[in-house]
Amino acid sequence: RRKSAKRHIFLPHLVASMEQVEETYIMVKPDGVQRGLVGEIISRFEKKGFKLIGLKLFQCPQDLAEEHYIDLKAKSFYPKLIDYITSGPVVCMAWEGIGVVASARKLIGSTNPLQAEPGTIRGDLAVQTGRNVVHGSDSPENGKREIALWFGEGEICEWTPAQAPWLRE
Ligand code: ADP
Repeated sequence: RRKSAKRHIFLPHLVASMEQVEETYIMVKPDGVQRGLVGEIISRFEKKGFKLIGLKLFQCPQDLAEEHYIDLKAKSFYPKLIDYITSGPVVCMAWEGIGVVASARKLIGSTNPLQAEPGTIRGDLAVQTGRNVVHGSDSPENGKREIALWFGEGEICEWTPAQAPWLRE
């Protein structure tokens, strides 16, 4: 009896943390652009119900690629990774939503596309880690950092989608 009573205890701090609005930086990498997958990738996030707040086609300069992947600087594949990201235009996106950072990582799938689940972007559309078509921030802090890195002032748009009341009660 005590156990079932416990389930009804209201924990406002827990609810608040679950309801946190976050931002994530999503990028279609050069292989995704070259393979004509831009629309397909955008539509996965759009259909899910997240809010697009920034979008552009962009040729990434060397120094920005290096800054973006600064945490991987010591890795053996780092030089190849910088070459890959700067090899052609990318599509930069900022998406907003409750829980969007972790949810976007789930939609994207594992780093190695052969291990990514079917139904995920990498699981459905790619075969190799070095050509895994899309990037997504790995934490809310990095979401903010990366959006600030890739977008300039005035490139992020605040708006209310018409579908908002149909997505959340
Ligand atoms: P994720 O993009 O899934 O967050 P990481 O942050 O570990 O993965 O790596 C960043 C990117 O570096 C990967 O998406 C991939 O493009 C590249 N990468 C990671 N590991 C390797 C590897 N072993 N060989 C080649 N490229 C790699």
